[in-house]
Parts: sequence; C-alpha cells; structure tokens
Amino acid sequence: MEPRSTTVLISGAGIAGPLLAYWLHRYGFTPVVVEHAPALRAGGHPVDLFEPAMDIADQMGIAPWIREADTTTRTLRLERTGRRPIELDLDRLSTGATERHVEVMRGDLSALLHERTRHDVEYVFGDSVRSLREDPGGVDVEFDHGPSRRFDLVVGADGTRSVVRRLAFGPDDRFHHYVGGHVAVFAPPGLRVPAGRMTVHLGVGRLAAVYGTPDDGEGRAVLLFRRAEEIPAEERRDRDRSRALLRAAFAGEGGRVPELLAGLDAAEDLYFDAIGQVRSDPWHRGRIVLAGDAGYAPGAAVGGGTTVAFVGAHSLARWLARTGGDHAAAFAGHREELRDYIGRAHGIAPTAMRTLLPTSAARVALSAAVLRAVPLLPARLWRALLSTERRATRVLSKAP
Ligand SMILES: Cc1cc2nc3c(=O)[nH]c(=O)nc-3n(C[C@H](O)[C@H](O)[C@H](O)COP(=O)(O)OP(=O)(O)OC[C@H]3O[C@@H](n4cnc5c(N)ncnc54)[C@H](O)[C@@H]3O)c2cc1C
Repeated sequence: MEPRSTTVLISGAGIAGPLLAYWLHRYGFTPVVVEHAPALRAGGHPVDLFEPAMDIADQMGIAPWIREADTTTRTLRLERTGRRPIELDLDRLSTGATERHVEVMRGDLSALLHERTRHDVEYVFGDSVRSLREDPGGVDVEFDHGPSRRFDLVVGADGTRSVVRRLAFGPDDRFHHYVGGHVAVFAPPGLRVPAGRMTVHLGVGRLAAVYGTPDDGEGRAVLLFRRAEEIPAEERRDRDRSRALLRAAFAGEGGRVPELLAGLDAAEDLYFDAIGQVRSDPWHRGRIVLAGDAGYAPGAAVGGGTTVAFVGAHSLARWLARTGGDHAAAFAGHREELRDYIGRAHGIAPTAMRTLLPTSAARVALSAAVLRAVPLLPARLWRALLSTERRATRVLSKAP
C-alpha cells in the first residue's frame, strides 16, 4: 500500500492522537482525527515530558514552546497535620539528573499539538465512532453524527475509556487494572497560587496538593488516596457521592485540606476516578490499533502516561512509514519495539503509590525527614532519595 493513499482514522484529539497525526502526515499518510468533545479541553492537570518525549518534540520543532509553558514545581512546601511545614527550593536543587524533564498543562500541550497539525490534517470535533466493520480491504466506520466513511486503518487514541477499544477489542473491565488508589483534580473557586509553587499535605495513605497554573495563577487541587477496593463507576460519576467520598477519605486532616474540601461543592470541573492501568497487549487487531492511554495507560497521576503516549504514537507512525503502510508488519514491529518499554512503565505506578502515599505514620515521618535533609545533600543524592522520581526518570527516559 502506498503511504499517500493510506487513510487513517484517529479517534481522539488529546495527546497521542494529534501527535500521531503529525507524524503520519509527515510520512505521507492521510490522517483524519475525530474528537467527541465539541472543542479541545483546556487546562486539566500538569503532565510530564521526559527525555524521549522532548526528543520527539525537538524533531517537531515545538520543544521551545513546551519549555516556555513549563509549569515544573520550583518551591515545594510539605505539611503534616500538627507539624511544622518544610519548605524546599527545588530550583536550587534541580541541577543534574532531570534537566530534560519538563512539566506542562495537559490542555496546553494538546492545544499546541492541534495547532501544529490543524492546517495539514482534517479534524472533526463533536463526533464519535459508533461502529467499526472491518473487511480485508479496509474498515467501514459509522459515526454518531457524520456520514459513514471508509478508512484503510483505524487508531484508538481516545483515552482510558476508548470507544475504539470497546468496539474492536471488548468491554473496558477486560483491560483496566486497578492500582489501589483514587485521584481527584479540581479548581477550588477563588484559590490563587503562584505558578511553580506546590503545597503538599501528607497523611497516612492520602495526599492533598495545591499548585499554581502558569497563566493566571489559578490554584488547582489534587487529592490522592489509597483504597483497597475500587469505588464503583456509578458512584464515581455521581457528583454528590464523589464529594462525600472525598470528604470521608480526607476527614481529620488539617493544613489546607479543610479549605480544599470546602471548595469541592462549587468546583465546576471536578475530575474523580480510580487510578488504573490499561493492559491490552497486543494492542492491535487486524487494521485497528490503539495508541496512548487507550492501549497502555500506565496509571493517571502516577505513571508518566504522556511520555509513553509520545513514544508509542511516534513508534507507530515510524513503523507504518518503514513498512510502506503494510499494517500487519508495521503493527507487529511496533509492538515488538514497544512492549518492554510499556512493561517497565507499568512498573512505575505501584512504586509511586507506595512513595507518594505512605502506609503508616512512621513512613509519613520518614518522608518528612528525608525532605528535611534534602537541602543538605548534593543534588544527585537527593534525587536518588526521592525514589519515585528516580525510578520514573530511569524507566521513562530509556525509550526503545
Ligand atoms: C488526574 C490525572 C493526572 C495525570 N497526571 C499525569 C502526570 O502527572 N504526568 C503524566 O505524564 N501524565 C499524567 N496523566 C496522564 C496523561 O494525562 C495521559 O497519559 C495522556 O493525556 C495520554 O494521552 P492520550 O492522548 O492517550 O489520552 P487523552 O489525553 O486522555 O486523550 C484522549 C482524547 O480522546 C477523546 N475521546 C474520548 N472518547 C472519545 C470518543 N468516543 N471519540 C472521540 N474522541 C474521544 C478525549 O476527549 C481526549 O481528547 C494524568 C491523568 C489524569 C487523569
């Protein structure tokens, strides 16, 4: 098959979708992106771009912009109920290990990728794949709103609850693996925090953080807590029930936590979900393939999913180009290239959960003691002590 005549439907205009569209177009394919939201989602949460993702961004010419939008935490304040807070100037300490690590708001990154591709790639907003019918020559796709179309290939880059995965591979619960915690992100109305500043309140099995966003200093809150049982989806989707669950999970914590919980009611953008990994290997079937969170999410907030999405989408496009659009060969080569990296990335979340959410009061005290000692240590050593960062950096920085 000639690349130029190969049409590729990409479901999802988040991170993996537009990134893949960029590379497919550059290699001569004809991608079309369908996004179910009526417009791109702004803001959201910060995401991490480790070295391989920044290398890809360099090749796309967008690395300078990403560095400009950097929201990396510069000052960290650790609070514990009834204890004196600890302040850390991370800038002063950050020379060395992770210079190539940049943090940006997910919404800003998604908008940048869209901007970089929108003149060359067809985007359809406000629609979603309804059915997929594959035959030896292509895939017939029905949409919720637009007319049916036929494509050579279909990519599900539509996130952890991917509709393409559901239609082509099976129900979500077959692929979702709960990692033992839940996360909420929201903007308590009126909360202002300078960009680059983060306050973390640490308790046993729970962590609350507030940080500033770059544009207007809007403060955003993250609540992360450990729980043996996954909260059922119907409860998580019910706003009042979610708020009650979050209040119960953080009951008794001091510091800024009561203020954050008070802001829950009026927060319009509350995101609340179980932290889960997607394991779908092999993430291709016939002419249909998954990219990013849809195929191999390593776990929201604890797994570095954005770097994995960059590396995965870039690898998929490269393999399609290398094989001249021979999808069977391309998907097999892509899987072979990526599976170890994804396996290692999936190993980050359990460690991150242990480090971020101490299981006992003694471990909370230990985390504080380590942080208190940090300014006295050389940068390389303190980064080694913060084992989550060390492990995530090591794993995510070694792309295939
Ligand atoms: C709370 C939270 C915190 C996180 N923290 C971090 C972090 O600190 N560092 C990090 O690296 N990563 C983090 N992540 C993960 C990161 O956001 C993802 O790994 C990354 O966005 C993956 O990109 P993606 O394109 O695969 O999926 P997404 O960014 O989820 O994009 C999927 C797109 O598909 C669209 N879509 C959904 N359904 C359909 C449909 N039916 N039809 C068409 N389009 C559809 C969505 O609207 C969206 O635009 C976090 C995630 C969450 C939820």
